[in-house]
Amino acid sequence: MKNITLIIPCYNEEHTLPDLISELSSLIGIHKSYTFHILFVDDGSTDATQSILKEYIKSLPITIVSLSRNFGHQAALQAGLDSAEESIIVLLDADLQDPPEVISDMIKKYEQGAKHVIAKRSQRNEKLIKKIPAHIFYYWAQKFSEFPFPREVADFRLLSPEVHTAYKSLPERKFFLRGIFAYLGFTPEIVTYTREKRQKGTSKYSWEKMIRLFLDSIPTLSSEPLRILFPLSKIVAATILTIVLLILLLWFSQGLSTNNLLLICFLLIGLSATYIIGTLSIIALYLHAIFQQSQNRPPYIIDSIINAEQ
Ligand code: UDP
Ligand code: MG
Repeated sequence: MKNITLIIPCYNEEHTLPDLISELSSLIGIHKSYTFHILFVDDGSTDATQSILKEYIKSLPITIVSLSRNFGHQAALQAGLDSAEESIIVLLDADLQDPPEVISDMIKKYEQGAKHVIAKRSQRNEKLIKKIPAHIFYYWAQKFSEFPFPREVADFRLLSPEVHTAYKSLPERKFFLRGIFAYLGFTPEIVTYTREKRQKGTSKYSWEKMIRLFLDSIPTLSSEPLRILFPLSKIVAATILTIVLLILLLWFSQGLSTNNLLLICFLLIGLSATYIIGTLSIIALYLHAIFQQSQNRPPYIIDSIINAEQ
């Protein structure tokens, strides 16, 4: 029988776990020709997440990988991917926004020969506060990514054992999994679903975490922002030169008042400062990524691994 490992990152999900586990039990009941493993990654939860998971460990094939603190969603997924034995992998969130019934469609595609199946959100019944940043992000990712991925696709996906092995073979620190999966190739098949609002608990993606994910994704997706710096410098230099020439022309032809001169100076300083700060910020993003890679620290630390055998 083929093995399927469901990897589910959890950060303070005490309210959603009972419903999730009941849905997963039904899923396991439907697909009797597969051996399921449910790998929960507890990403430093401070609520009852651990104890709830432990309650189910005797009745379901559950493994709990507990991280030593909160490392974030992407790191928690990586902990799951690294800890899982070679098998078919399905990544999903704990809050039922990635509905377990969609996994059946993914399995069907896998059985038809797909090695990589991604779940695309055909509709998002979420708040605008979630939708708008998501749209900006996908626009950016489409525009600049060297290895583009479809819009409205997150980490909810099925990986065949081949893709899982290829993922594990990458030596780098993986900041942003969507970019990594796009790099790996294995042209994905798509299943669609409606993304509903979170029913229980609250979103664990604070604004701070969302912005960090966006910034971390930039160097992962492409070096295009670095490449546009030189053409951009030429445009800025040409603009400044034109302004200076116009000022000199005006000065010599009709003279300039001190006020106008000051205004022009502020304009020039403002333009140059914006350009310098913008350029340095882009370089800083790449430097930060290089620094983190060179530190070579693991993206997560495992505190304990518990399953029914322990
Ligand atoms: N999550 C995590 N660590 C974090 C933040 C989130 O493991 O630091 C998990 C969370 O428990 C959930 C999934 O990642 O299973 C997605 O988080 P959430 O639903 O809060 O994000 P949203 O759907 O609001 O973008
Ligand atoms: Mg969610």
